Amino acid sequence: MPEGKNPAQRREKKQVEDKKVERKKEKPEVILRVENLSRTYIRGKIPVHALRSACLTVRKGELLAIMGPSGSGKSTLLALIGTLETASGGKAVLDGTDLTTVPEKQLPRLRREKIGFVFQHYNLIPTLTALENVELAMRFSGVSKKERVERAKALLGELGLEDRLHHKPTELSGGEQQRVSIARALANQPALILADEPTGEVDTKTRDSIVRVFRDLSEKGQTIIVVTHDPAVAKECSRVLRIVDGIIKDED
Ligand code: ADP
Ligand code: MG
Repeated sequence: MPEGKNPAQRREKKQVEDKKVERKKEKPEVILRVENLSRTYIRGKIPVHALRSACLTVRKGELLAIMGPSGSGKSTLLALIGTLETASGGKAVLDGTDLTTVPEKQLPRLRREKIGFVFQHYNLIPTLTALENVELAMRFSGVSKKERVERAKALLGELGLEDRLHHKPTELSGGEQQRVSIARALANQPALILADEPTGEVDTKTRDSIVRVFRDLSEKGQTIIVVTHDPAVAKECSRVLRIVDGIIKDED
């Protein structure tokens, strides 16, 4: 404590320091830690370094945007974290599990339980209604049919689709389909949601409503990584990461 300050000043300084300590303590837990993650594709005989030694830490409740030119490795990064692709090197620890060491046979279950996917083209099953699409995601989760339906209804309701439960994807607008796919991604309470250009196909009004959904979810503690080309989407995220030529430019 520097000499010469009056007690009031000292008290104030201490309060500021206490607050700093408190904030540090409050930092949410790390949900995802990516270390030197790489992916090389061989095209013909030429190696394509789609992702080079990516490092990244994501905390619970973050809404993280990933931006970068086309072909820079954004989808590759998401696919590796989502265990849809196999890494050429490095690791990715999600909620305590190193994804790169999980045996192939256990991956579908891990994906189902820990990761929710949202795609640009929604990827809903066209023959099923909104309710059935969401309920299907829980089919193998050990929850009774009654509970699954209730939970699917609740999720769709939260996303403002209570009047669309029995509509099929072709009977829904793009924004509505994307909200169904977000409900589906949330169905098993995943540790992480991965969204690859989720607003790539929708008008700006719909885009804004989807971004609002993500923000609400993130405020409730849901961790989300969203790949986007759109600065208006990135602006609403809690952090933005840029990838160029397979290299994360501003890693933490
Ligand atoms: P982005 O999503 O940023 O547009 P991608 O991650 O899809 O980029 O691709 C990164 C690079 O890896 C590109 O050069 C792409 O052509 C290449 N790539 C992606 N998938 C494959 C694949 N299955 N086989 C060969 N090359 C691929
Ligand atoms: Mg892509």
